[in-house]
This record gives sequence, C-alpha cells and structure tokens, in this order.
Amino acid sequence: MEENKLRVRKIEEGTVIDHIPRGRSLIVLKILGVTGNEENTIAVLINVESKKLGRKDIVKIERRELTEDEVNLIALVAPTATINIIRNFQVVKKYRVKLPREIRHILRCVNPTCVTNSEKNVETVFEVICRDPLKLKCAYCWSYLTLDDILSQLEEMR
Ligand SMILES: [Zn+2]
Repeated sequence: MEENKLRVRKIEEGTVIDHIPRGRSLIVLKILGVTGNEENTIAVLINVESKKLGRKDIVKIERRELTEDEVNLIALVAPTATINIIRNFQVVKKYRVKLPREIRHILRCVNPTCVTNSEKNVETVFEVICRDPLKLKCAYCWSYLTLDDILSQLEEMR
C-alpha cells in the first residue's frame, strides 16, 4: 500500500477512472479531450496489477467531473471502468459505467448518404447491438459502427 501512495498521491477534488482495460487509458484521455496543456494535474497509470482484471489502467483528473456524454463514450471503450468522484480527498460517489442502449448526437454515421450526414438538423442515433465486439447500428440507415470507426472519429474530434 505504501508503494501505491508513492506512485500517485491522492487527489483532493476530481475524478478517478479506475478498472480501465489495459491499454485503453489513452483512448479515455482522447474522449476527455486531454491535450497536455491542462492547468489541472492528470495522472495516467498504465498496466497496474488488478485482482479483478489482471492488469488495468487508471486515469486521475484533478478538479474535473465528467459529462454524461463523456461517461457514455468511456462505457463504449472501457466497459469495466468505474468512476470515482473525489471531494476533499474522499470518494463521495462511486459507480460502474453502464453501456447505454443508444448513443445520441456524439458519433457520426459512416454512410455518407445517411440523412444524419445530408441534413443539418438531424441528430445521430445509434443503437448498441453488441458489446463484444462492439457494434452500433444507425437508427436511420442501419449502417454499423465498430470500435475502429469510433476510435477514428475520436481522433478527428479533438
Ligand atoms: Zn446512418
């Protein structure tokens, strides 16, 4: 336990995203829009031993709480993640992310002729039809979105 303290000190205010599947923390940082120019401290632990997962990643962000959209995207790429809200060095709220049944407006349809791409005011709606491997279906044109599609959209988004 001493060793853990040395690795990363506790944060006073903010969010700890724990139980991220190994190697996915960098994608989580992308979802959060972390650029490296932040004023607050962000700690990333990659490949930490975990009883539950074998190996896991952890992201700690000071002075920030996550939006619902961010949590939904994290649920897609890191379904085992738990979110810990920290205030005054204490965990005041802890919950596991829940894969939403649908994702609205954040992602783009891969089909260029889809109404969500051709019309300005049509919001995208994707139904989550498979968890593993991840597969989403456009509610308008029934095109599928895979994890790779989502990852490349995240690249473009930020
Ligand atoms: Zn579509």
